[in-house]
Amino acid sequence: MKAVVFTLGCKVNEAESAQVMAALEEAGWEVSDKLGYAQAYVLNTCAVTREAEKKSRQLVARARKFNPEAQIFVCGCAGRKDPQAFWQKGVTYVTGAGDKSELISAMLGGFNDKKFLYPKQTGTRAFIKIQDGCNNFCSYCIIPYLRGREKSRSIADILGEIEDTNCPEAVLNGINISSFNDNGNNLTQLVCALSGVKKRIRLGSLECSAITPQLLLALHGLQDFAPQFHLSLQSGSTAVLRAMNRHYTREEYLQKCQMIYSSFPDAAITTDIISGFPTESEEDFKDSLSIIPQAGFARVHAFSFSPREGTVAFKMKDLPPQIKNERISRLLAAAKQAESAYISKFFGKTLTFVAEEYVGGFTMGYTGNYIKVYVPVQLQCGKIYSVKVGSPYAEGALAELV
Ligand code: SF4
Repeated sequence: MKAVVFTLGCKVNEAESAQVMAALEEAGWEVSDKLGYAQAYVLNTCAVTREAEKKSRQLVARARKFNPEAQIFVCGCAGRKDPQAFWQKGVTYVTGAGDKSELISAMLGGFNDKKFLYPKQTGTRAFIKIQDGCNNFCSYCIIPYLRGREKSRSIADILGEIEDTNCPEAVLNGINISSFNDNGNNLTQLVCALSGVKKRIRLGSLECSAITPQLLLALHGLQDFAPQFHLSLQSGSTAVLRAMNRHYTREEYLQKCQMIYSSFPDAAITTDIISGFPTESEEDFKDSLSIIPQAGFARVHAFSFSPREGTVAFKMKDLPPQIKNERISRLLAAAKQAESAYISKFFGKTLTFVAEEYVGGFTMGYTGNYIKVYVPVQLQCGKIYSVKVGSPYAEGALAELV
């Protein structure tokens, strides 16, 4: 039997898809993550924006083009938000986000092992899901309604999975890892428990509240920490942050950035910013632009506000499309500028990177501080090398082996 497990959306979806792939492979199926001919398709969907939801629904037709007779299993946030939209397309099975054991059970018929299945990690980076769900209810976000309340895995279970993976790098991810809580042990305690791990450890998206002197100290205790902090911002305006139900001010956010730089001077701070939130004035938007160089972001993921039914912001009056379009273009331009400024700071410096793939005469991979480097020789994928960073190239920089 051949199955395709196709994933849209976040790293948590990727981790959960890897779990489904591992179970199917264990049962003797041939599995691919690319759309092509198969007898069964698992479509792991996303509903973070209206566009993502639309793309998720279109996946059904895309899969049917390869095999009109195939069984189609839908899971993920778009499945949870509007299962009817998928049932109407005649799919075999629809479920939501989170635990995939019932979906696996439905696919394998009778397979009903409820234990957490470790995803088979074959690449250079293992995505380790440490928690699911979110209790924050930011006013624009549909995720807490789709993924439910926060649940964390046990530290022992996470440690076991990291030690079992063959990948040189493990990324701790979840919907809101800042709220990690295993029987009173928080993210700092989890990091302390990983101090003996001989792998590069990277953290997934963090909230401001997670950045504490204790966490930074614990990260220094790791054998190999990738100093990248994805510190979710969303807006540079304190007034908009309040309307978004995010519990920090612009000044507090900048203080957390300073705390990170004092502890890890070469750190890459990356972030998400939404432009065109309903209450965002031109002045508020300018606050989002001006915080980009001030925070020294290495990368900014820019989004235009998309109203999600069921959220508080859905009831607010949306801004005219021309204002939203104009703001997102300005935000994207500022993001691009920030990225080049960050990369140029490392020109001539020596950094380490994990070799990921060899394409078109270059070995490509990411440094600890998330600069994509292109080295013009063939290197062994999965190994860590030292390189000297050169001039900007494609989405990163050229580099030479040291
Ligand atoms: Fe959504 Fe806010 Fe929770 Fe992130 S922290 S998942 S943006 S509600």
